[in-house]
Amino acid sequence: MALTASETDDKPMNPTPARPVPIPTAETAHYWGAALEGTLKIQYCPACARHQFYPRRFCTDCLSEEIVWVPASGSGRIYTYTVCHVAGHPAFEAHVPYAIGLIELDEGVRMLAGIVASDLGHLAVGARVEVCFERVSSEIALPMFRLTGGDRVAADRTDRPDHT
Ligand SMILES: [Zn+2]
Repeated sequence: MALTASETDDKPMNPTPARPVPIPTAETAHYWGAALEGTLKIQYCPACARHQFYPRRFCTDCLSEEIVWVPASGSGRIYTYTVCHVAGHPAFEAHVPYAIGLIELDEGVRMLAGIVASDLGHLAVGARVEVCFERVSSEIALPMFRLTGGDRVAADRTDRPDHT
């Protein structure tokens, strides 16, 4: 059977799947709501005066359920990172290479996030970073991090532990 013209249009056989986006849960809804408004929030336990991330219903140290949400400084340093040259999902193939890192916020908690930089060669363990947000849907803005003061300045200003 012959194909009609509409069946032979140059539509890709396998269109790129949509980018996966986080789905807020009861524990994370406040976090994602704040991120959508451009604020990075983390949980704080007044009973033991410590922050925690990721969001949970109770303090993982004293088990108190009286935890509160507080704005985070949004500042920290790269604890570790990797540059992905092979996309972990087809939707990211157009974005390689891209960086993913474990960011240690000044509040002491660590969070996994994307790191944006005009030159990924400027990234370094210990480099200071600040939060920024990437809107990926009408409901989700992803906290991302960028080098504080711009790529070049930050690369020269790492605060790695002194091993001397
Ligand atoms: Zn606690």
